[in-house]
Amino acid sequence: MLIEVRDLRKYFPVGGSWSDILKRKHKLLRAVNGLNFNIERNEVFCLTGESGCGKSTTGRLLVRLLKPTSGQVIFEEKNIYDIAPREFRKYRKEMQIIFQDPYESLNPRMSIYELLEEPLRIHNIGDDEERLDLIYRSLRDVGLEPPRDFMVRYPYQLSGGQRQRVMIARAMILNPKFLVADEPVSMLDASVRAGILKLMMELKEKRNLTYFFITHDLSVAYHICDRIAVMYLGKIVELGPTYRVILDPLHPYTKALVEAVSRGEIMYRRRPKDISIKGEVSNPIDIPSGCVFHPRCTEAFEPCDKEEPELIEVEKDRFVACHLYK
Ligand code: SF4
Repeated sequence: MLIEVRDLRKYFPVGGSWSDILKRKHKLLRAVNGLNFNIERNEVFCLTGESGCGKSTTGRLLVRLLKPTSGQVIFEEKNIYDIAPREFRKYRKEMQIIFQDPYESLNPRMSIYELLEEPLRIHNIGDDEERLDLIYRSLRDVGLEPPRDFMVRYPYQLSGGQRQRVMIARAMILNPKFLVADEPVSMLDASVRAGILKLMMELKEKRNLTYFFITHDLSVAYHICDRIAVMYLGKIVELGPTYRVILDPLHPYTKALVEAVSRGEIMYRRRPKDISIKGEVSNPIDIPSGCVFHPRCTEAFEPCDKEEPELIEVEKDRFVACHLYK
């Protein structure tokens, strides 16, 4: 196992003044509300769910870009939040993140060479010549050839797909073990998505990487992820091998997500329909009692609005949080 997540929570104070916050009279937005899961070495672990369910916050917590309200992320047997900032530099090299937006994530005033050299300088890696060699090889690894041509360009001179390749090269140049990919292809044209996904999978095999892949697109998850966790209002409601969860969903919310994409759409990546569940996602500041999904669930029954279901193993390697599977 590479990563173990234990009862991870992230609450953001919202509304009220600073004095309300200091007196703890403010409201809390429960973005991540008690997550427990493991990520195996060399696995592609997917987190999916509707916008605003807490996926991106979880990704940032896993690489310590955010501090949790409580809980632990154990990376190679150490809780990353207990590591002193100086010592954490070593871990930072091993845990990288690729963001959704290749247009916003690259400093437009830096050349591609400078953008790739920056992390090497921060981590004191190599002299000028060694860094040039590493940058050259990284650009070649992500398919930006000839590398010498790309090094002197600026982000505005690249297409969306090329910028995302630079983002991947920047994340990979430190030779990490673990990579969080936060919707890495959702802003790209359909024609370049497949190329970026293929590149990421090739790099994973070549470098023995482990991915935490955030996506709302079940067809992408189906094609590249080993296991999938379905998140709703800061909680995991279903977790298991991707093909089993998508082809035979158990939780009513997962069923609704899968219903919105036909099998053909998942297999051949066609455009999904709207999700066929009632109402809107509840306000994360005012989380429903009992099962968080009960106001929208078409199968809700007696205990659902009072008792919160636990995430339990209902079949080998399949976990569901729903009273239907008690
Ligand atoms: Fe629906 Fe009840 Fe299951 Fe929640 S616990 S998903 S409300 S059936």
